Amino acid sequence: CGIVGYIGTEDAKEILLRGLEKLEYRGYDSAGIAVANERGVHVYKEKGRIAELRDAVDETENSVVGIGHTRWATHGVPSRLNAHPHQSETSRFTIVHNGVIENYEQLRREHLPNAAMVSDTDTEIIVQLVDTFVKQGMSTEEAFSRTLSLLEGSYATALLDNEDRETIYVGKNKSPLLIGLSDGVNVIASDAMAMLQVTNEFMEIEDEEVVIVTRDSVQVKKLDGEEIVRGSYIAELDS
Ligand code: GLU
Repeated sequence: CGIVGYIGTEDAKEILLRGLEKLEYRGYDSAGIAVANERGVHVYKEKGRIAELRDAVDETENSVVGIGHTRWATHGVPSRLNAHPHQSETSRFTIVHNGVIENYEQLRREHLPNAAMVSDTDTEIIVQLVDTFVKQGMSTEEAFSRTLSLLEGSYATALLDNEDRETIYVGKNKSPLLIGLSDGVNVIASDAMAMLQVTNEFMEIEDEEVVIVTRDSVQVKKLDGEEIVRGSYIAELDS
């Protein structure tokens, strides 16, 4: 299972698919990507191999922003419906997640007693909570940080907002996730290997931080909003 993300100037679909292929060694039962352009956020996902996902992707939907996922099912059978990315009820938010949200049933009872869930995954609670908090008046960043602060368990996660298609929101707890840096391009990956195709400069994320990634900036914050300064390193790996 793994996560990739890209925001830059080249064709995001191809970079995400190639990144997911590099993560195949981790094992998976389904895969998906979401790419954003002026027509919205487009989700493609399939049970089975990345080759099948490749066939499902609309080649004409050009985009320079997106997130991708290989799933190893923990909650809900391997299926197209349960494959990531998952979207909120309004389709405004799109998420990928690796790990297990241990308290998802409790969060659902407390915060979303009436919401209809589309999938059988623990993941969907994350994206529905973000949407709910935004409807209550929070900014996307506040809603994402608030949601992460409520989660118990392990996660590496990336979020797209259909109303700001120039930002990827990222967080992790007990699951690996890195930011890759380059000129006018930033990426995310569970393993640097997936994004050596773009850069060999990486930045670590620590547990319980939120990272706000745009084409030209990477901001790291604690969940309470306090800004953090973090250096980068050069990955000495062969692609
Ligand atoms: N728990 C999530 C699911 O079952 C994510 C699994 C994973 O890490 O791929 O969909």
